[in-house]
Amino acid sequence: MLVVLLAGCAQEDDYVREVRKNLETVLQVECNARMGAQVFAAAADDAAQNEALNAHERTAQRKACALFRALECSEQVHIALFEAVAKRNGWKAHRTCGDYPNVDSVRKGIEDALRAQDYESQVMFPAFVRAARRTGDTAATEAFSYAAAVEQVQAELFRAYLENAQAMPDAYHVCQRCGIIETSLPAANCQMCGAPPDKFKEVR
Ligand SMILES: [Zn+2]
Repeated sequence: MLVVLLAGCAQEDDYVREVRKNLETVLQVECNARMGAQVFAAAADDAAQNEALNAHERTAQRKACALFRALECSEQVHIALFEAVAKRNGWKAHRTCGDYPNVDSVRKGIEDALRAQDYESQVMFPAFVRAARRTGDTAATEAFSYAAAVEQVQAELFRAYLENAQAMPDAYHVCQRCGIIETSLPAANCQMCGAPPDKFKEVR
């Protein structure tokens, strides 16, 4: 009986350790995503001012800049969510960023971001939600669930940009509780987390 109980505790510890490791992973992933968004927003902003480019191309760059700024804002919300979960559990949150991304072209930056968003929303975050749910850590489960759903919204926006950059909006509204990116200010509470409209920050 004792052996069974001890084995049960050991397994529970393993589950918690896994959630802690996952939290460190996502802090790193989201820090890199935020840094990449910052770098590409700046590059797109520069290109949008470049008079050597035609009006069509400059508009595409301006739209890319707004999209990357919205992404940066959204990732910042997720970083704060994950740091809050770490703090609640008494874990030290390590935020480590990798190297600056190479800015070959803004379009390639969009494609790379989209690939990462697809992977994170379809593979990484769903697995992390399942692991968090096993431990009964509702804050971690909620944070990973928001991130999974929001990364999917980000992917839809980045895919839309690749299809028709000119049709993209000039400004976005980012929920400061869950990080969802909306293309217009919601009239009602956030569809993802229920935050009131005044929790949305305009980014352009
Ligand atoms: Zn929200």
